[in-house]
Amino acid sequence: MWRSTFARLALPFLERKTSAVACQALRASARQGQAAGLTSVPLHGQQTLGSASLPVASQSVRHAQALDEERLLEVKWVDGGHSLYPFTWLRDNCQCPMCTLQSAQARKLLMSDLDVHTGVEDVEVTNDKVTIVWPDQHSSVFDAEWLKKRCFSPAARQAMQEEYFLNERYYWDSNLHIPTADYQEVLHDDKAALSWLLALRRVGIVYLRGASAEQGQVARLAERIGYLRLTFYGHTWQVQDKCMANNVAYTSGRLSHHTDYPALHFAPGVQFLHCINQAVEGGESEVVDGFHMAELLQREDPEAFQILTSLHVDFTDTGTDYCDFMLQSKKCIIDVDNKSRVVRINYNNATRDSVLDLPLHQVQPFYRALKAYVDLMSRPENVVTYRMEPGDLVTFDNWRLLHGRRSYVSRPDRLRHLEGAYLDWDEVMSRLRILRTSVHENT
Ligand SMILES: [Zn+2]
Repeated sequence: MWRSTFARLALPFLERKTSAVACQALRASARQGQAAGLTSVPLHGQQTLGSASLPVASQSVRHAQALDEERLLEVKWVDGGHSLYPFTWLRDNCQCPMCTLQSAQARKLLMSDLDVHTGVEDVEVTNDKVTIVWPDQHSSVFDAEWLKKRCFSPAARQAMQEEYFLNERYYWDSNLHIPTADYQEVLHDDKAALSWLLALRRVGIVYLRGASAEQGQVARLAERIGYLRLTFYGHTWQVQDKCMANNVAYTSGRLSHHTDYPALHFAPGVQFLHCINQAVEGGESEVVDGFHMAELLQREDPEAFQILTSLHVDFTDTGTDYCDFMLQSKKCIIDVDNKSRVVRINYNNATRDSVLDLPLHQVQPFYRALKAYVDLMSRPENVVTYRMEPGDLVTFDNWRLLHGRRSYVSRPDRLRHLEGAYLDWDEVMSRLRILRTSVHENT
């Protein structure tokens, strides 16, 4: 069953679209269906990676010329379009061994040696490469493919950014069938690992089955990516009913929907949870798509959305575990980026500080807004419930999903035990890009 789910989520990437225009159309049509269940958005995000796959033939340079007055190089492509590149940018990105350290793919050229008002002496096209001779006789050679990927048009820039960051997401509700993969396959097969990470990025949650029911499995999975994120709760941490618990998770009580660790200014991006032992009764897990809920809030209650994306709330966490800690942070409940996209949810009611650094008149509006958001994420039609069994492992986006747990009956002869670990998105995306490259090279 996981194969069919993955086929929908990962195959679009393997098929790879060839037209940036088609990508735009897909994106627009996908947006309209975005709020519905996952089933209605199979196209959402299909343009992802499309920019990398423009057929070589269409990248051929038909003509290149310097527009001296505008200080731009104009490249006309065989397939019809044209691209413009500032002289300064071209000189800054000369790929020759004097200007670029090839072994590190890093710039050697210093800003102090860059003339940001440079002209161009000569432009030539040979073998689908553009050669520029600069006034000091230094020359730079640029591949057509390299240039085309770096075109400054809005569509090309958007395609490139999507290839880098995979920011298009599938939003979901209670109808989600959580994408599921085999733990051993993910560990040993690059294609399976790539599908796992693509689904983790786009859907925000992937279930892995088939790990052995003993400690150490989350660390093994983290090694598949790179390394895990050490926090005050240790390299990995044991979710159990503990006496004198230093965290509400370490009790048998219900946990309302939350993201982990908003008390850190840079909260962990990804979370792994592995079930080693399940309670006899209760202990079911719940997840909700925080980005989707933010989008619903923006539509249904724009004032609440505005408040949660602008007011900073204090979070706190104090105790002893890996070592002693006394954390304080200030966060918006919903973080948006400079394009107004929701990029991170920061909400844990347990660690929200009693210190509330707001002027009096904003306190009541803040509570009203928070309540509206929490009410949305509590609606049954938005919540996915599942029960982990020993050997199951769930991986999810901690910047996006809110997760919770139903209370359970704690029995000394049957201790509920999950082991958890954190990673950051930088390391996960790094592995995803490497796998994408190697899987493509081998297909
Ligand atoms: Zn150079």
